Amino acid sequence: MVPGFARLGIRNVANLLCHYPRDWEDRSVIVPVSEFQNARVCTNVTVLARDWIGYGKKRFLKVYVEDESSTEGPRNTCSRAALLCFNRPWLEKQLMPGGRFRLWGRFFYKYGEIQSSTFEIEPLSSDEKAAEPARILPGSILPVYPLTAGLTQIKLRRFVSRAIEKYTGNLEDELPPEIIARDNFLSKSAAVKAIHFPDSVEELKRAKKTLIYEELFYLEIMVSKRAINKRMKNGRLPEENVTMSGKSSSFLIPHSSFSPLQQRLIERLPFSLTRGQREAVNEINNDMMKNQCPMARLLQGDVGCGKTLVSFLAALRTVDTGGQTAIMAPTELLARQHAENAALLLEPLGLKIAFLTGNIKTAGRKDLLKNLASGVVDIVVGTHALFSKDVEYKNLRFVVVDEQHRFGVIQRSLIMAKGDNPHLLMMSATPIPRTLALTVFGDMDVSVIRDLPPGRKPVKTHLARETSESRVYDFVRKKLKTGSQAYFVYPLIDAHSRHNDENESNLKDAVSMVRRLEKKVFPNFTVALVHSKLDDEEKRQTMERFRQGEIAVLVATSVVEVGVDVPNASCMVIEHAERFGLSALHQLRGRVGRGRDQAYCFLVYSDELTDDGKARLKIMLENNDGFIIAEEDLKLRGPGQIAGTEQSGYLNLGIANPIRDIDELAHARTDAFSILENDPDLILRDHRIIARVLEEAPPFEEVVL
Ligand code: ADP
Ligand code: MG
Repeated sequence: MVPGFARLGIRNVANLLCHYPRDWEDRSVIVPVSEFQNARVCTNVTVLARDWIGYGKKRFLKVYVEDESSTEGPRNTCSRAALLCFNRPWLEKQLMPGGRFRLWGRFFYKYGEIQSSTFEIEPLSSDEKAAEPARILPGSILPVYPLTAGLTQIKLRRFVSRAIEKYTGNLEDELPPEIIARDNFLSKSAAVKAIHFPDSVEELKRAKKTLIYEELFYLEIMVSKRAINKRMKNGRLPEENVTMSGKSSSFLIPHSSFSPLQQRLIERLPFSLTRGQREAVNEINNDMMKNQCPMARLLQGDVGCGKTLVSFLAALRTVDTGGQTAIMAPTELLARQHAENAALLLEPLGLKIAFLTGNIKTAGRKDLLKNLASGVVDIVVGTHALFSKDVEYKNLRFVVVDEQHRFGVIQRSLIMAKGDNPHLLMMSATPIPRTLALTVFGDMDVSVIRDLPPGRKPVKTHLARETSESRVYDFVRKKLKTGSQAYFVYPLIDAHSRHNDENESNLKDAVSMVRRLEKKVFPNFTVALVHSKLDDEEKRQTMERFRQGEIAVLVATSVVEVGVDVPNASCMVIEHAERFGLSALHQLRGRVGRGRDQAYCFLVYSDELTDDGKARLKIMLENNDGFIIAEEDLKLRGPGQIAGTEQSGYLNLGIANPIRDIDELAHARTDAFSILENDPDLILRDHRIIARVLEEAPPFEEVVL
């Protein structure tokens, strides 16, 4: 076994063949040295001279080469380059003066010359006219693999190339022949060969298309199998599961009445439920009334739409039927806020609420655990501590996971395991495209709250250049004078700490800005700092004082991003806004605009903003809807990660990216469902291959939530 293979998860030839390149390089196109800034250089060179530099261990060979592609034009420094041969002493024998090579690599301008230390070379024949290297590897489009210590591109390419020669000759197709023919896919062996060593860009495209589809197809086969099983239990179609609360489609769902405790809370609220909230509660009630199988529902809704209240109402129904509820939040701050709200709203109804985090120690904790185990506590709110080993529930019937994208599958299942098949409600403000939601969450039902509580004025968003920040500060000062509060958010806690490299030190950070804002900018107001490195008690006190209005300006990092709810705060200033993702910006902006006053968000950006950065901030300026922002973000970012999917465990695909390849995903989904609906036992000749793949090499492990 080659060292390094194990770390890449390569244990056999099949793994090796599935170790897909992360990129490809077309070495048939000449890119002269003079264009080193725009691309990887790929050209033919002659060795001019060589030199040994340095002493002892640091000694290395420096080789000067001249680009052949520029011999026609005037000679200048741009046609010469220096190759630094660190740790490659053997190159001394190869790179002899006068020798000709195909050179390939990334170059930089340093110390007055164009240099590279990460180049590759292939010898050219000494014949003046020969411009093509003697090929060691097939084709001129070469794979670039993810690597690990002990492996080089060259080594890995050779291994893969040998494996392809030996083993791909008679690989069996894994897609039904009708689909291969319909979509003009490559055969499995051709696709595997071409994904590593394509003959042309066209062929590479087709190979990608084939393998991406194949992966998504089997993903959807697994999902549809589960969905069809569930449908048989429930007697309904999985595709009918998504309803848009707040839109008219849910008239199909029978209206259940509120449970007694739900009714009492609703009567006591100073406002009425929004239509979206009402419908979400109704859907949950319907799920909970069914006896056959527990609810598994994803509640999506933009920041501030009032998801917390929906989860409280669902908890009340659980209490009415004699069960306990656990509400889990990703941060201590957020958990505490939920616990305080629950105490405020639910204790007057006679409920016993508890708050449990890792920091609650000894005596208090013991009592709390006793009360949970004996059933005295109706609702427990907390962090990961809710599923610690020593926590026992008498009758956990309902689990709420807030900001679900912050949790992994394992954590979700650990809390679920504390009860006997409890109902599950996962909540998230991060929208996920519908097809993907159906796939990632398999057989989960999805509710979407589309409306916000009435009277909310959209947050007014402004862009400001770093150099005109003082105008922003002046504006905020005026607002503070009227009794309002403000957040100031920075990307870093402390740019000057040892742990940051130098080039971050010109960034404004939370620690130094809190001093400046306090002393220079808002001397007449209380300014305080909160970030993730502070201890929990300090965080709690600061948040509490901010909420009480004792602190006027809260300087923070993105810890305030999730969930924090302080309606009197009407200004949000985000400095170095270009450093935040769009979803994070949207979440942050969602912290204001929760009260009656007009709210403002200032995105302060640095002068050296890229075009892409400008486009992103413009999206924030023009949109207030989290769903639209998420979509735009996807368009700009392409295959990035979207919260909620990367942690979902069973979606570790090799080449497909369900966000980028969302159309193919939808396509694969239709195919998979239609095949399994018409031929559930996969006995048709065309479908036998699917049965065989599932039996012999199941593509994804079944994950039970
Ligand atoms: P999110 O959906 O982002 O979790 P929250 O649950 O934090 O939103 O709710 C945001 C704010 O809206 C809270 O202050 C809450 O009390 C308030 N709220 C919730 N529902 C309503 C409603 N129907 N009418 C008015 N305000 C509401
Ligand atoms: Mg929330």
